[in-house]
Amino acid sequence: MATGAGAETLLIDGIWRNAHSGGHFPSIDPATGDSLGEVAAGDASDVDAAVRSARAAFDERRWLSIPYPQRAKILFDIADRIEAAADELAVAEVRENGMPVAMARATIANGAQAFRYFGGWIGKIHGQTGEIGAGDAFHGFTLKEPVGVAALIVPWNGPFMLACHKLAPALAAGCTVILKPAEDTSLNTIRLARIVEAAGVPAGVLNVITGLGSVVGQALADHPDVDKISFTGSTATGRRLIEASAGNFKRLSLELGGKSPVIVLDDADIDMAAPAIVGGIMSNSGQACHSGSRLYAQRGIYDRLMAAVADIASKLVVGNGLDEATQMGPVISQVQFDRVMTYIDSGVAEGAEVATGGRRRGGSGFFIEPTILSHAPADARVVREEIFGPVLSAMPFDDLDWAIRQANASRYGLAGAVYTTSLSKAHQVARAIRAGTIWINTHRPTDFWTPFGGYKESGWGREGGAEGLDAFMETKSVIARLH
Ligand code: ADP
Repeated sequence: MATGAGAETLLIDGIWRNAHSGGHFPSIDPATGDSLGEVAAGDASDVDAAVRSARAAFDERRWLSIPYPQRAKILFDIADRIEAAADELAVAEVRENGMPVAMARATIANGAQAFRYFGGWIGKIHGQTGEIGAGDAFHGFTLKEPVGVAALIVPWNGPFMLACHKLAPALAAGCTVILKPAEDTSLNTIRLARIVEAAGVPAGVLNVITGLGSVVGQALADHPDVDKISFTGSTATGRRLIEASAGNFKRLSLELGGKSPVIVLDDADIDMAAPAIVGGIMSNSGQACHSGSRLYAQRGIYDRLMAAVADIASKLVVGNGLDEATQMGPVISQVQFDRVMTYIDSGVAEGAEVATGGRRRGGSGFFIEPTILSHAPADARVVREEIFGPVLSAMPFDDLDWAIRQANASRYGLAGAVYTTSLSKAHQVARAIRAGTIWINTHRPTDFWTPFGGYKESGWGREGGAEGLDAFMETKSVIARLH
């Protein structure tokens, strides 16, 4: 990690600064390996300054004392400003993350919309009122109050959009915030923060600390004055956050890993299922927590489905995301590239057949061919473990109960999908899979009101909708004696 001139990517109490240590590191374009610019390597002292800033802003009610129509207007203004800068933000997102530019445009638009959705909640957050005991001697009601200082820890796989998905409800709830982007994708978060400042969010309400997760993220989790952590990332890091948060019983929202099963019945519509299955795994090069990475297809449809899936996957245009024709970009880094290739090798070693892909694409950048592994043994690592790459592991089944048992034989429970033309089977499977989101004859659509999160080791709590907003609030019961 270099020191020297530094990089002013820390926002603390309204001032952009270098890391206290002067340390910084480059942000790398995964399609070329080139540096896109320097990012400040914050440490525990920077985190402490940011937490003090957020705490002061919260205690002085710098955000909440703004009348609620004005607060809502600021969130709507953030959405407008994101849209006005959408082209530039989309290109920047591609250069940091590698995703195809069409997808980047959609994620920037989605990020803007998050501020409209949650801005619309401001002024509509109410407690309840009710009777206390028998008679009319008391009056009782509840207040919804912001949880306080919230640390938002964001991953690299949808950096701009996922930052918006956390920041918009946190601000709508009235929290003050420390935003920590992933080390691989910090630069577009800086642009988002500048937009938020320009829209009139007061100094100290939003603070940004860039740097390594093991340093900055860990310091946020350890800090006694952080009230809440909203985290999206790996299950391993989620476990670390649980341990670190025990110190002051931080509220935790954890959106973690997944190994989402896809069950296809004999009666499925292949023309509908095959492209949706490929999109469900290859989108963002398989780097999505909800990727449909395990395919269980009934024996009567297996060969035809696999032929269709392999055909579509093999024809995906893989390349630099800035090229409009690209349908799948690189994986995020050399580390991720090596990890995915090791998994592919392990799948083959454990007996899976390569139906398509399996190799590196091109001489530079971190490109991997869309890979379909057929006849994967049910207990192979590629079937059990989250790969976070463009790799689908498929196997046939005879008995639906067996497929459902396999689908649930996972420590994860984030999402799942079922493809069938039978209405009743679709709903039976949707109920039987233990996961937070189930898609029927599709994969991936969600909306801001559909709570998203996991069963089991896929996390705690839900993002989105009223539940997502509630995760940034405490409830206070007030009981008054009337006479
Ligand atoms: P991935 O393995 O997909 O990169 P991580 O869980 O490591 O997922 O990263 C998600 C986010 O968590 C990133 O912002 C990263 O910097 C951060 N992070 C990594 N390690 C820690 C940690 N020990 N404590 C808090 N945050 C961390």
